[in-house]
Amino acid sequence: MTASVAHGDETVRYISTRGEAPALNFEDVLLEGLARDGGLYVPDRWPTLDATQWPTFRGRHYADLACEVMWPFVDGTIQRGDFERIVCGAYSRFRHQSIAPLVQIGPNLWVMELFHGPTLAFKDVAMQVLGGLFDHVLSKRDARLTIVGATSGDTGSAAIEAVRGRDRADIFILHPKGRTSEVQRRQMTTVDAANVHNLAVGGTFDDCQDLVKGMFNDASFRDRLNLSGVNSINWARVLPQAVYYVTAAAQLGTLNGGPAPRFCVPTGNFGDIYAGYIAAQMGLPVERLIVASNSNDILTRVFATGDHMLGQVHATMSPSMDIQISSNFERLLFDVLDRDPRKVQHLMAQLKTDRGFQLDAGTVAKLGERFSAHRVDEAETLDTIRAVHRQTGYLLDPHTAVGVAAAQREMQSTGNDANPMVVLATAHPAKFPDAVEEASGVRPPLPDFLADLYDRDERMTDVPNDLTAVMQAVEAKAAIAAV
Ligand SMILES: *Cc1c(COP(=O)(O)O)cnc(C)c1O
Repeated sequence: MTASVAHGDETVRYISTRGEAPALNFEDVLLEGLARDGGLYVPDRWPTLDATQWPTFRGRHYADLACEVMWPFVDGTIQRGDFERIVCGAYSRFRHQSIAPLVQIGPNLWVMELFHGPTLAFKDVAMQVLGGLFDHVLSKRDARLTIVGATSGDTGSAAIEAVRGRDRADIFILHPKGRTSEVQRRQMTTVDAANVHNLAVGGTFDDCQDLVKGMFNDASFRDRLNLSGVNSINWARVLPQAVYYVTAAAQLGTLNGGPAPRFCVPTGNFGDIYAGYIAAQMGLPVERLIVASNSNDILTRVFATGDHMLGQVHATMSPSMDIQISSNFERLLFDVLDRDPRKVQHLMAQLKTDRGFQLDAGTVAKLGERFSAHRVDEAETLDTIRAVHRQTGYLLDPHTAVGVAAAQREMQSTGNDANPMVVLATAHPAKFPDAVEEASGVRPPLPDFLADLYDRDERMTDVPNDLTAVMQAVEAKAAIAAV
């Protein structure tokens, strides 16, 4: 494997978008997650790959390319050999050789299947790397972690699969009792490992999130249990997602002189599409990044007019995108606001006091140089699943269908049919069988390795929607509390 060249030979450091937390290296940022000033960590500069490297990427193995693309962000902390071992281990659990295969569903229109990992959603692509990184860094430091997270579905199972059976971490996932889909719940509760703990909270997803925040805000509890989180505000969760933008461009011939692709991304917390931005900042030719939203359309509004006012969360058939505050958007704002943390602080203070903010026309224009955004409603989502199935026999899950509908709108409105359009397929259709069946008449079966999911035993603990009770439940079961 050839070594990547990051221009400028200094180790990348990570700084907070709000400017008042210490700069950290990759390992510390991995363990810290959210910056202590409430901001998000971003690299202090954008390393680029050497121009001679890109054309050599065609046909290479995914894990091999993943090391090349991520290395400039890691260099100076973890040893290269250890990093390669972690990355190879992460992708050994995927059931498709190319990890992120492209499937053509129309003229110059592809979907990139990101759901071949253990829990059938794209979150495995990064979470599997994160699990290996945690293990490595904790052994090196002889430390233990307690991971806590709230989930409405996909994040919880992906995180559990990534840390199950690992020696140095306990994981506690809070889900709203009775409010996730059965597939999603069983993917979490049927995992038989001593360090995995599911808490079924008598409340909503928002209650679960508040309980998690409450645990982090209790400084003595946080330190006693060495708490850590796994949502996409962690830089190490976003970075591995930049890799598949590169492998797609390599497969489409872009890196050997072909036209640059457009990527259309079903978006919730803005982590996945921000990873496309990372790839572009590293020098990957990207024609455009397209934000696809369901009826929770705050991002469509902000890209169109700069209006970032919070609304009500609507429940849709693409629940992983039912979100009002897209945390990772702050990372992009930091760049378009000239990396001035005071400007970010100002907007985030407004978000808190006024439930929103308005970007000026200059900032909106800057966002528009690279991004487009489209909103897709429920009827259009069902129509898209139905139409693509009828025309090609291919079944889309509802999240991916939002992406395909947005991509088609972008292709029509721009008249551009020269640059390939790649829609990120974020979940396997069998994860959302009801919506898929309603649209297409076909009930997608679970893949063989999950075929007995409905027969497996479930393990979970019921807890009330009460912070003290939840903290007691966590402390009673966390191994770190016993040492
Ligand atoms: C998490 C998720 C999304 C949203 O991804 P973000 O990185 O939060 O924008 C989209 N689709 C599926 C299936 C997901 O699980």
